[in-house]
Amino acid sequence: MRCPKCFADMKEQKVLTQSGEVMIDKCERCAGLWFDQGEAEKVKDEWTSVTLDDGDAYLGQIYNEITKIDCPRCDKTMESVKDPKQPHIQYEVCQEHGVFMDAGEFTDFRELTLKEAFDHILDIYGKGNSTQADQD
Ligand SMILES: [Zn+2]
Ligand SMILES: [Zn+2]
Repeated sequence: MRCPKCFADMKEQKVLTQSGEVMIDKCERCAGLWFDQGEAEKVKDEWTSVTLDDGDAYLGQIYNEITKIDCPRCDKTMESVKDPKQPHIQYEVCQEHGVFMDAGEFTDFRELTLKEAFDHILDIYGKGNSTQADQD
């Protein structure tokens, strides 16, 4: 398969998750990642390989400027999507086939999701404290 951004070859990489193996395509030049439909979510939740997204985030930022790309599976123009919760993360989606992420984006995606979880927990604690303060 060819990278939809820089047209270099993409290499299949196996990632072990708790629910089995997931195949991900990684570009040998720009280190962009292609996830077949559903796989990004699977890997995000059960992350076991931190070395998967080891691309240069700076390079990723350059390639992030390229938003008009075609789906490597069906050649239709992909939709550029901003993550609704993390608008600085932008990726390309083919509704039928999958998601393309630039180098560094997937790691970002996961870290921010974790941070979000912490924010949520802190929120709950915050509320918990104020409830306690109301007592007495
Ligand atoms: Zn590439
Ligand atoms: Zn497609």
